[in-house]
Amino acid sequence: MSLTSTDLLGEIKWIPHPRSIQLRRLGLETVGDLLTHYPRRHEDRRAFGEFPREESEQPICLCGEVTRTRLNRFGRGKKIFEVTLQETNPHALSQPLVCRWFNLHYIQKMILTGQRLVVFGKPRQRGQRICMEHPEFEIIENDDEISIHFRRITPIYPATEGLSQRVLRGLIYRLLDEWVDDGTQTPLSPELDPELAPRAVREIHFPPTNEALARAREALILGEFFAMQMLLASRRAHSRARTGAIHCGRGDLLECFLRALPFDLTDAQARVIEELRGDLRSTFPMNRLLQGDVGSGKTVVAIAAMLLTVEAGFQAALMAPTLILAEQHHAVLRRWLEPLGVPISLRTGARKEDPLPLFSNTPRLNPESTGGPSAASSASPELSSDGRHRKRWWSGSDPQTTAASQHRPAAGQIFVGTHALLYEPDGLENPGLIVIDEQHKFGVAQRGRLTTRDPAPDVLVMTATPIPRTLTMSLYGDLDVSTIDEMPADRGRIATAARDEKRLPDVLAFLRRELEAGRQAYVVYPLIDESEKLEAKAASAEFEKWRERLLPFTCELLHGRIPASEKQGIMERFRRGLTSVLISTTVIEVGVDVPNATVMLIENAERFGLAQLHQLRGRIGRGEHKSYCILLRSDPSEETMAKLAVLERTSNGFEVAEADWELRGPGDLLGTAQSGLPELKLGNLRSDAKLMQRARAAAIKIYRDDPLLAKPENQRFRRLVVEEVGKTFSHVS
Ligand code: ADP
Ligand code: MG
Repeated sequence: MSLTSTDLLGEIKWIPHPRSIQLRRLGLETVGDLLTHYPRRHEDRRAFGEFPREESEQPICLCGEVTRTRLNRFGRGKKIFEVTLQETNPHALSQPLVCRWFNLHYIQKMILTGQRLVVFGKPRQRGQRICMEHPEFEIIENDDEISIHFRRITPIYPATEGLSQRVLRGLIYRLLDEWVDDGTQTPLSPELDPELAPRAVREIHFPPTNEALARAREALILGEFFAMQMLLASRRAHSRARTGAIHCGRGDLLECFLRALPFDLTDAQARVIEELRGDLRSTFPMNRLLQGDVGSGKTVVAIAAMLLTVEAGFQAALMAPTLILAEQHHAVLRRWLEPLGVPISLRTGARKEDPLPLFSNTPRLNPESTGGPSAASSASPELSSDGRHRKRWWSGSDPQTTAASQHRPAAGQIFVGTHALLYEPDGLENPGLIVIDEQHKFGVAQRGRLTTRDPAPDVLVMTATPIPRTLTMSLYGDLDVSTIDEMPADRGRIATAARDEKRLPDVLAFLRRELEAGRQAYVVYPLIDESEKLEAKAASAEFEKWRERLLPFTCELLHGRIPASEKQGIMERFRRGLTSVLISTTVIEVGVDVPNATVMLIENAERFGLAQLHQLRGRIGRGEHKSYCILLRSDPSEETMAKLAVLERTSNGFEVAEADWELRGPGDLLGTAQSGLPELKLGNLRSDAKLMQRARAAAIKIYRDDPLLAKPENQRFRRLVVEEVGKTFSHVS
């Protein structure tokens, strides 16, 4: 019988029924599923190493006979199971190796004196003995099995509940024997000779040599990456094929805005604005990612694009991930744009027409800036009536409407809101441009919602989380990318220092000096308890401690359980300088902008990720004063030191991101799941970045030559796109 990839495991006679049920529970349903259950690593069992006399960092693979087993008890019910392994050869016993397992009862039942064992682990010196702690092991049961499991470069699979290495290996070995490639499973890459694909599948499992293994791996990773890049290229081709509209005015409004700004644009900002203008001018819909470090001035760039849109008579929307940020954006936009006569309204889903008394006061975002209305108290009624009025204007059913539109014939309107605007457009009927702030929290599925509108709006997503280049290529490969890689010149420098928490008194003395000089500070600490009730409690306990330490300066507490309305009050008092210190959990992470705050003290800094620490640090250094980020650590481990040293060394977000990626090693960093792309089974976005580049180039070329994949030679790639698109979006939303 020959098997193809789509055959069901449950229908194969030699697989016992309970086994196939077990496999199905693990998500392994078809022959193809098992064949792409790739080994995690391989062990070279062609020849086993000699029994070591010293410890080593390098794990090794040994084969020997169990000459003794022993169970030691210690403490309260704790046990160590020790197995002495020796190499048996006709003449003598080798140096013994002791394998030890702590508190694993079942192992003690598996291993018996006289058995032959293969073990894999790091040899360690323990007193006089060489030990391996919790090694991986396999028992050699009979010599028939030797041809599959030993005397070769042997695959070791990812741990799978209830399935031993041996069972899995045996299954895959036999499947490969009976399998005939029908082209549905083997990943395709145009670089790859189709004949080689099935061979790669065989050899990734059971490679004859290390070179063959490397070749197989490369071929399969290329295929996997190529599938990913084809999907991205298809999304891109898809959005380009749609027609949008030209959403670009002449730029007079933008000119006025730029002239009124209290600062000059950085070169990077100016360049990006031109990139955006190019997109707005063209008829294909903009689909662009704007990357820029915290404080690099993305908002101004977004405003510029919105002004061009508004001038062309369209609506533009700015969406933020949280209410606080939406309201902050709204305040900034009103201050800058109302003098230009651009109508702006806030839509927050929860409280649409609420006048938001606190935020309608003109905030002191830039202490020295003078522009904007300062008659703070009169602003709120004006906004609420204005908001309602405008709604009618757009519905076009009121006589007043005509008057208003005659008043500003060419102007569109700007909406500011949370991401909820996507679901409840609330007056946002026909947006020309949608700007989404902080892409990080914004999935592909949501983006998908936007791009399926007809006519398609231009979409700009902004992120303050710099992403290593190779990752951008994968996660956001369907987007064009603009980068603001320059900070405004007037920015105060941020000095970052990691300190042991024992030095808290020095740190406090320093903090006081800054406060006495009129500066403000953030104190941030991680929450240890995640549960809701306890969170508020832990936060307040922590707050009391800090408040006392910082007396007589005024402190306020901000955490996730404080109701939104109160939160605004707290933020607003801090913004206005009525509070000196904001003591907070990480809720201040994104977007908050108070230039007079120059110190950020982060307690237990080791508990935060690098990216998050960098984000937090971005809250300071926003004014002309020099700023200080102090990372208090309670853990002196090497890992912590290395992590915090990155922040001391650089304040460039891209460098932090690269270092972060390196320190964390492979694995999911930005939630690849969120990218809505198929999970990678083999390739690693970082270490295989070169292959990703090749795959990307291949995919782009195919789409450039044949955007509809209509040519006969491209038929074999259609499946990749069609199938994957279905899968992708179903798993995200
Ligand atoms: P982010 O990129 O983190 O969203 P913002 O857009 O909030 O940054 O800008 C941070 C601060 O820098 C704001 O107060 C903004 O007014 C100011 N700013 C933006 N561009 C410049 C510039 N070219 N020169 C000086 N200040 C600027
Ligand atoms: Mg921002």
